[in-house]
Amino acid sequence: MLRLKNYINGNYQDPADNNWMDLTTPASGDIYAQLAKSNQADIESAYAAASSAFKQWSETTLEERSRIMLKIADLIEKHAEELASAESKDNGKPVWLAAAVDIPRASANFRFYAHALTQFASESHNSTGKNTINFTLRQPIGVVGCISPWNLPLYLFSWKVAPAIAAGNTVVAKPSEVTPYTAYLLGDILTQAGLPAGVLNIVHGIGPEAGQALVEHPGIRAISFTGGTQTGKLLAATAAPMFKKLSLELGGKNPNIIFADCNFERMMQVTLRSSFANQGQICLCGSRILIQRTIYDRFKEEFVKRVDKMTVGNPEEQVDLGAIVSKDHLQKVLGYIELAVEEGGTVLSGGIQVIVPGFENGFYLRPTVIELPDDRCRVNQEEIFGPVVTLIPFDTEGEALNIANGVPYGLSATLWSRDLDRCMRMSKALEAGIVWVNTWLNRDLRTPFGGVKQSGVGREGGFEALRFFTEPKNVCIEY
Ligand code: NAD
Repeated sequence: MLRLKNYINGNYQDPADNNWMDLTTPASGDIYAQLAKSNQADIESAYAAASSAFKQWSETTLEERSRIMLKIADLIEKHAEELASAESKDNGKPVWLAAAVDIPRASANFRFYAHALTQFASESHNSTGKNTINFTLRQPIGVVGCISPWNLPLYLFSWKVAPAIAAGNTVVAKPSEVTPYTAYLLGDILTQAGLPAGVLNIVHGIGPEAGQALVEHPGIRAISFTGGTQTGKLLAATAAPMFKKLSLELGGKNPNIIFADCNFERMMQVTLRSSFANQGQICLCGSRILIQRTIYDRFKEEFVKRVDKMTVGNPEEQVDLGAIVSKDHLQKVLGYIELAVEEGGTVLSGGIQVIVPGFENGFYLRPTVIELPDDRCRVNQEEIFGPVVTLIPFDTEGEALNIANGVPYGLSATLWSRDLDRCMRMSKALEAGIVWVNTWLNRDLRTPFGGVKQSGVGREGGFEALRFFTEPKNVCIEY
């Protein structure tokens, strides 16, 4: 059986204790590979490799770093088909989606930071009248840690490791144990691209073991983490007393706010995607749909009609939704659907598992629409992270704002209205790191990316990530 090994110091290696865990493909429920179940010893050897590679890599010219990263981007594109199929096998997402979004975006992340690193500059302050100039050195931190989740596996992995190495750091990275396949395949690409051994080390294993050892390692000075809010809390509790630099991208419960004056057809098309793309397993999905009461019935009828027509099935086919990532996650999402009914909700579409012929043990769920006006109930407060949305009516702008902001999270928000003044007022008042107006998941990689409240601390994207992965040092010269 296929064994996914660690990639340390430029080589694939068995885990120190020769421990392995099974990997399941969500489409069929079958075990398709074994994954290195690493522990502290593996983190230690990855750290040793990263630590010895640091001096050379941090002194490598920007042009050379950029050239290698562009090569990585090209090779991801060259192997796009294989990577897309691996991503789908691991995650359950449709192959077409991985081929259209995940893999091109992973390549774009390396390409973007290959260019960004050559444009990144630091500040200088001329203290006029004092014959003094201050300038800021932005130096790489050293060995840094990157931990990523299962929903957009290579896409979010590359979103962290690309700026980390671009800034001159060396890395110990841990992909999600649920979807490690593409990060495993990346090892070969790094070698082919000529990335020096030890610059990027990929250690697999479960969070409480390999992940925890990474966060606890005293030599790893910064951690960039994307994952659940509960895990983020644990991680911060370990890292904060060690005074590590932390970037946390956590969960969301994003509002999709629809005013009566919106472009209805455009809103409807995008709302289908913002609700159910990637089986609703995108941290930016708009899981709470707030609809102005004057168009509530029209919205409900049209939305449910279109959701009823969405297809769920074998991810290798042209389906709208593939499989949910794991059996545990499917159970969690089903639990929330049950809870919604207990909380007074009405299931308008879906709510049931799907048996796909030939894939009877796969983890499939119909896209689910629930009418649940009580915005303070658990289903409207907690992150479900599946193909489930709730419909909540509102009358006024103020009411919409109260509902939108009335959750512990603050990652993104979407607004649908043709009233520019209202959009500006709402954009300023929404408690979110990202606001989309008459669009969704429209990304420019230069913009700051991240959330407020329990959705995280810090920002990724553009120069923000290069700032995170460097330590500023001010030098003051009097002449
Ligand atoms: P998770 O928190 O369970 O796991 C994320 C990563 O953390 C995995 O690699 C896991 O192994 C590791 N981990 C777990 N426990 C750890 C520990 N004690 N120490 C160190 N590492 C540990 O999250 P998940 O279930 O993989 O992903 C889903 C979550 O991620 C959702 O909440 C979603 O909203 C969030 N997410 C956020 C963003 C964002 O940009 N804000 C993007 C994607 C996903």
